Amino acid sequence: MILLDEKASQFLNITPHGHWWDGKLQSNQSPLTADVYNPVDGTRLASVSMGGEKEVDLAVRSADKAFQQWSKLSVHDRSALMHRFADLMEKEKEILAQIESLDVGKAITATRGFDIPFGIECIRYFADLAIQTPRDTPLAITNMEARVHRSPYGVCGFIFPWNFPYNLLLWGIIPALAAGNTVVVKPSEVTPLSTLYVAQLAVRAGIPAGVFNVVLGDGPSVGVTLTEHPLIKRMSFTGSARAGADVARRCGQRIIPCKLELGGKGAAVLFEDADIEKAATQLAGAITFNTGQVCCTATRWFVHENIYDTFSKRVVEVLQKIKVGASLDESTEMGPLASAEHKKRVLSYLDQGVKQGAKVLLEANHNEKNPGYFLSPFLLEGTDENICFREEIFGPTAFLVCFTSEEEAIRRVNQIPYGLANSVWSQDLTRANRVAEQLNAGNNWINAHNVFAYGLPYGGINQSGFGGGVNSPETLNDYLQPKTIARPLS
Ligand code: NAD
Repeated sequence: MILLDEKASQFLNITPHGHWWDGKLQSNQSPLTADVYNPVDGTRLASVSMGGEKEVDLAVRSADKAFQQWSKLSVHDRSALMHRFADLMEKEKEILAQIESLDVGKAITATRGFDIPFGIECIRYFADLAIQTPRDTPLAITNMEARVHRSPYGVCGFIFPWNFPYNLLLWGIIPALAAGNTVVVKPSEVTPLSTLYVAQLAVRAGIPAGVFNVVLGDGPSVGVTLTEHPLIKRMSFTGSARAGADVARRCGQRIIPCKLELGGKGAAVLFEDADIEKAATQLAGAITFNTGQVCCTATRWFVHENIYDTFSKRVVEVLQKIKVGASLDESTEMGPLASAEHKKRVLSYLDQGVKQGAKVLLEANHNEKNPGYFLSPFLLEGTDENICFREEIFGPTAFLVCFTSEEEAIRRVNQIPYGLANSVWSQDLTRANRVAEQLNAGNNWINAHNVFAYGLPYGGINQSGFGGGVNSPETLNDYLQPKTIARPLS
C-alpha cells in the first residue's frame, strides 16, 4: 500500500470542501453538506458543501465577468497559460492520482498510467490546436468579400458523472477554455474531489479568477439551476440518457446548444478467425478497467459458434486471475465499485438476469461482510431478451451470446437504442471494416476495444448522445460560434 502524499492528505482534510468561483474557495450560503465515501472501506473520505440556486448564480456571474478578460486575451496568451496549467498538473500528478483513486476507488496504477497523463495531454492538445485553428475562413463567392468568423459563446455550463471525474472534466472544459469561453462545472456529488483540486491548480497556474468555476451539489438543484441560468450560453452534459434528456429539454426551451455524452451498451463481435488470446485478454481488460464503470465498454459479446467454447473458457481463465484490491495498493488490477448504491444496482441486475434464465459462466464474488464496495468480474450467457443483455449495468461484467452469420450479428448488435462503442474482431480486415461501418455506434474499433487518442473523435449516436462528441478538432469548433460577415463588391 502506498503512503498518502502529505498535500493530498491536507486537501482531503478540508472540512467541508467548498465551491470555487472568483478564483477562490467559497463557503456555502446554507449549512447543507454531504459526505463522500472511500469505496475501499465505506468510511467517510471528505465532506462537501451542497449548493443551490444562490451558489450557481454567484459562480455564473463570476464566469460572465471573467469572460470579458479571458475572451480578449490573444490565442497565444491563452494557450501559454494552458500549457502552464498542464505543467503544474504534471508536477502534482501523484497528488491528483491519489485523490482520484481514493474518491472513485480506481487502481492507482490506472490513475497514474492513464487518467492523469491522458488528461494532461488533453490540455496540451487543445492549447496547441487553438493556435493552429483559424478564427476566420474566407469564402470564395463571386462579387463578394465574405468570411465566416468564429468567436466564443460566453459562459458554458458542464455537468459530469462519477466514473471518470478528472478525465471527463478535462475532455469537456479544455476545448471550451481554449476557444475563449469561461466555464461553470457541476461535478458528480459522488466523486467531486479531483475537480476541486484541479480548480485551484488552474488559478495557481495563472488562469484568471472566474474562468473556471465549480458548484457542488446534486442534479435536481444545482444541475437544473445551472442548465436554466440565463447567462449560460451553452451546455455540455455527460451522464445517463435519462438525465441527459432532461438537460436537453431545458436547453431546448431556452434555445441554447447542448452537447450530450450518454450511456452505452457496447458490443464486441468475434468472428471465427479472431485472435482468441488477444480478444480474451483485451475484452477482460475492457470490463475490468475502472471496474467496468465505463460508458463505452463492451458488455455484449457476440461470439461465432465455431469459437464460442474455446473463447468463453479462455476468457474465464483470464478474468479469474484479475487481482481485485484496494485502490492505493500498487498490485491491484481492479478496485471496488464507486458507491454502495451502485453496487446494489449491479447486483440487482445480476439477480434479475439469472431469474430471467441467464446462465452464470463466471460467478461474482462479493463478500457482504466487507464494508468496501468490492465485486469480482462475472460473466453471463443467455438470450437477447435478458435484461443484462439489454440494459447498461456499469460493472465488471459481460453477457455472451453465440452467432452464426455476419448479417445476423449486425442485426442483433443493432437492436438496442444505444449507439456508443463496438468492436469487431477478425483477421479479415475487409470484413472487419465492412461490419464496423454497419454497426450503430459513434465509435467502432477493430481488433481492440477502448481506443482513445486526441484527434480521434469520440461521441455517441442514438441514445448515446449528440452534439459532436469530444477529443477532436471539431470539439474546439463546437465552442466557437460561427458568424457570417459579407460585403457585396458591386
Ligand atoms: P447521472 O445521469 O445520474 O448523473 C450525471 C450528472 O448529472 C451528475 O452530476 C448528476 O448530479 C447530474 N444530474 C442528474 N440529474 C440531473 C438533471 N435532471 N439535470 C441536471 N443534472 C442532473 O449519471 P451517473 O450515474 O453519474 O453516471 C453514469 C452514466 O454516465 C452512465 O450512463 C454512463 O454510461 C454515462 N457516461 C457517459 C460517458 C460518455 O462519454 N458518453 C462518459 C461517462 C459516463
